[in-house]
Amino acid sequence: MAHKYVYRFNEGDKSMKALLGGKGANLAEMTVIGLPVPPGFTITTEVCIHYADTGRYQDGVDVQVGDALASLEEDTGKRFGDPSDPLLLSVRSGARASMPGMMDTVLNLGLNDTTVQGLIAQTDNPRFGYDCYRRFVNMYGDVVMGLKPEGDEGDPFEEALEAMKKERGVKLDTELTADDLEELTRRFKALVRERTGEDFPDDPKDQLWGAISAVFGSWNNDRAVAYRRLYDIPDTWGTAVNIQTMVYGNTGEESGTGVGFTRNPASGENHFYGEFLVNAQGEDVVAGVRTPRPVDELEEVFPEAHRQLLDVRDTLERELRDMQDFEFTIERGRLYMLQTRNGKRTGLAAIRIAVDMADEGLISPQEALMRIDPEQLNQLLRPVFSAEDTQKAVDEGRVLAKGLPAGPGAASGRVVFTAPDAVAWAARNEKVLLVRDFTSPDDIRGMDAAQGILTAQGGMTSHAALVARQMGKVCIVGCGALDIDVRARRFEVDGTVVAEGDWLSIDGFTGEVILGRLETRPPEVLQVLLEGVETEDESHSYRYYAEIMQWADKERTLGVRTNADQPDQAANAIAFGAEGIGLCRTEHMFFEGERIMDVRAMILSGTTAEREAALARLLPMQRDDFAGIFRVMGSRPVTIRTLDPPLHEFLPHDDADQRATAEALGVDVESVAAKVAELHENNPMLGHRGCRLGIAFPEITRMQSRAILEAAALVKKEGLDVHPEVMIPLVGTKKELEHQEAEVRAVAAEVFAEQGVAVDYTVGTMIEIPRACLTADRIAEAAEFFSFGTNDLTQMGFGVSRDDAGKFLPLYLKEEIWPVDPFESLDQEGIGQLVEMGIKKGRSTRDDLKVGICGEQGGDPATVKFCHRVGMDYVSCSPFRLPVARLAAAQAAIEEHGELELEK
Ligand code: PEP
Ligand code: MG
Repeated sequence: MAHKYVYRFNEGDKSMKALLGGKGANLAEMTVIGLPVPPGFTITTEVCIHYADTGRYQDGVDVQVGDALASLEEDTGKRFGDPSDPLLLSVRSGARASMPGMMDTVLNLGLNDTTVQGLIAQTDNPRFGYDCYRRFVNMYGDVVMGLKPEGDEGDPFEEALEAMKKERGVKLDTELTADDLEELTRRFKALVRERTGEDFPDDPKDQLWGAISAVFGSWNNDRAVAYRRLYDIPDTWGTAVNIQTMVYGNTGEESGTGVGFTRNPASGENHFYGEFLVNAQGEDVVAGVRTPRPVDELEEVFPEAHRQLLDVRDTLERELRDMQDFEFTIERGRLYMLQTRNGKRTGLAAIRIAVDMADEGLISPQEALMRIDPEQLNQLLRPVFSAEDTQKAVDEGRVLAKGLPAGPGAASGRVVFTAPDAVAWAARNEKVLLVRDFTSPDDIRGMDAAQGILTAQGGMTSHAALVARQMGKVCIVGCGALDIDVRARRFEVDGTVVAEGDWLSIDGFTGEVILGRLETRPPEVLQVLLEGVETEDESHSYRYYAEIMQWADKERTLGVRTNADQPDQAANAIAFGAEGIGLCRTEHMFFEGERIMDVRAMILSGTTAEREAALARLLPMQRDDFAGIFRVMGSRPVTIRTLDPPLHEFLPHDDADQRATAEALGVDVESVAAKVAELHENNPMLGHRGCRLGIAFPEITRMQSRAILEAAALVKKEGLDVHPEVMIPLVGTKKELEHQEAEVRAVAAEVFAEQGVAVDYTVGTMIEIPRACLTADRIAEAAEFFSFGTNDLTQMGFGVSRDDAGKFLPLYLKEEIWPVDPFESLDQEGIGQLVEMGIKKGRSTRDDLKVGICGEQGGDPATVKFCHRVGMDYVSCSPFRLPVARLAAAQAAIEEHGELELEK
C-alpha cells in the first residue's frame, strides 16, 4: 500500500499525536468513541516537514486528499462546489504540542459567487450567507494571500468594514444588511486584487490547496518559530492540517457556540464549567465582544444539547483521562464537538483534579502524582492575598516594584529598616516588614520578628533568602528599584517615598511589592498541620495535601530531611514530613539572646585560655539548644555542623556597636576596632572559615562537640534514642577532616566516660569544595557520611560569589546565557558531575557511605530528581520545601521504573 499521508477522523486515535498533531489525534479519538464530530480528515505532520523543506508535496498527497474529500462528500451528502447545497470546510493547523494562536485557520472555505447562493437557499437566510462569505474572503485574504497586517499597520479588511458602517450610518456589524455584506464581499475581493495583483480564487479546489499550503507554511512564520524557541518545541515536529466540515452556530436563535471545561480550571471543582453565546461563531466567545453566558444556562436555552454535553463531558474524561477544555457548536439545536484538549489549570486546580480523579478511579495514584508540578504544592502551604485585593492594588497603581520571589507567601506590615527596630516594634505587637539593602547573620533576630523581608540586593541564595525560607518567612530579594536611606529611615522608588511605619505588602509568589496593607489569609493546610485545627470537610485543601503526601511517601525511596537550627523549626519540619535534620548551622545560634557578647569575647581573646573561658560560657547555651532539637527530633538523625562562617561576621562593624561591645566586655574600643581590621578579608568566602577555623582554634570544635554530645547523652538518659551526626564544613583534604575528627572523637570519649552513657554518633563532612569531590575516595576513609554543600560547590565550581551573583545573574538569565539560576537548581551538567564523582569515589572506599545534599538546591524538584538518580540517600531542605521534595522524590522513583505510559 502507498504511504499514508491523509487520515480520515475515523482512522486515527489519541495515541497518534506525533503524526496527526494534538488537535487531529483528539478529533479522531472523539470520532472513534462516537461523539458528534463534524466529519473531516487530517494531513499528517510528515507532509508539513517535507513541504517546509522542499516547497513541494510528496507524490500521492494530492490523490489521497482527493479521496478523503470524496468520502467526506459521501458522509455529508453534500458536494464541494455544489451550487445548490455546497460542502463548506474549515482548514486548521494542529501541532503535536499545542501552540495557541500561533498558526493559521481558514473557515467557510468553498464559497464563491455561485455556491453562496446554495448556502442561502439551504438556510433561507441571505444575511447569513453573505456574512459567511465576507468572513471567508477576509480570512483567506489574510492567511493565504498575505494581507494580514504586520505590527501596527492597519488591517485593510477592518478598514473597509469600518468605512461601510460609516456609509450606512450604523455602529454594529450586525446592523449591516445582506445587501451591505454582499457589497462588502465585493470590496474585499477588489482589495485583494489591488494589493496582490491576483484575482481571489473562485474554484473551491484552488481555495483548498491554497489554504493547505498556507497552513503548512505558517509552521515557519515568525510567531510560530519564536514560540517554539520559547517552549523548546523541535522544528522537526511540523504541524498537521485538519480539514473539517463546517457547522454553524450563527444561523439564528436556534444555534450557538461555546467553550467547556470538564471541571473548573481555577478551583478544580468537579463541576461542568464553561461559557456560550447564542447565534455566534467560535471566535466571538473568545474575542470578548459579547459577554458569554455560563454553561449551566444551556439547560434552559438548548435542553437537549445540554443533556448531550453532560454525557460528552463524562465520555471525554473517561476516555482521555484528564480534565478537558473543548469547543462545541450547536447548529439548529444539534450539538457538534469541534475540538478537545487537556485544559490549562491553576496549581490549586491541578492538585484537586489529580487527587479527585485518582479517588474516582479514573487514574492511578502514581499518575496523579505525575500530574502535579511539585512547585504547585506551595499554593497550598503559604499565606496568600486574595485575588480581588491584588487586582485592586494593580488597578489602583499600587504595585511599586518587583524583585526576586525568594520566600513564598504573602505578608504585610509596617516598614522598618534595621533588625533592632524590627525586634523593638514587634515587641510592641506591631506587624513589621524588614527592608534592607541586604541581610547578614546579624539581622537574624530582626528577620525572625518580621512578617517578611524585602531586600534591594542579593539573589535566591543570598543570606536573606535562605534564612527566610528556613524560617518560613515571606521574602523578596534583589529588588533593585528600592533606593534605601537607612539613616533617614525611608526608601524611594521612582519618586514614591515609603517611610518607617508605612504599611507595605509583599507577595513572595510573584515578587511584587505593593503599597498599603493587604489582608493575608492563612492557608488551610497549615491550620491543620501546625495548629491542630480539625476538619471533616471533603473539599478542604488539607485532604488533598494529605492524600498526595501519603501516595508520595509510598513511592519514594529517597529520604527527606530538613535544614533547621531551632526546636520550633524542627517541629514544623516534622509536621511537613522531615525524617531528620540534614543541616543544623550552629552559627545561627550564636546570635540568640545576649550570647553574641560571649561569642565576641571568644573572638577578641588574646590567649587560648581566655578563649576557652569564653567558650565555657557558651557551652551550656549550645548544649541547651541541641538538647531542645534532639527532644523534638527523637530517634531521627540530626546532622550538626561545626562553626563555618569567617569570624568577622560576628563582630560589630559600626562605631556605636563597637563602643557598646567594648563596654560590655570591659575592653577598649580600639582593640575591638583593631580586631575587626585584623579579621578583614578580601574574599571571606575563600578565607578563614569552615574547618580552617576548627584547625586554628581546636577549642571551638571541642566546645561544640561537647555541647552536642553532652546534650545527646542527657536526652538519651531521658529515654530518647538520639542519633547525632557531627559534620565538618569546607573540607578539601583528608588530613583536614582527620584533624577535626580526632578532636570530636576525643571529646566523645571524655563525655561518655563522664556521663556514664554512650551515644550512637557519626562524624562526616560537607562536600562543598571541588577538590573534595576529586579526592572523595581519600576523604571517605575518614568520613562516615557526606553531605553535598551545593551552595559552596556551585560558588566555587562556577567561580561565582553567591553574594555578588545578583549583579549579573538577572542579565545571564534574561539572555539565557545560563538556563537557570544554578544556586536555585543544581547545574546538573557541570556541578552535577562533581557530585556524581564525589559519590562514586566516596563509595569506592566506603560502600556504606551515607550521602545527602544540604545546599539550597535540595528543595528544588529537578535537583531532587537528580539526587535520586545519582543514588543519594536523602535530600535536606528548608521545612516549607519538604512537601515539594517528597513529591519530586516520588516522581523520580516513578520515572525510574517507567511503569507509566505518560501522555505528554
Ligand atoms: C552549602 O554550601 O551548600 C551549605 C549548605 O553551607 P552554607 O550555605 O552554610 O555555606
Ligand atoms: Mg557551605
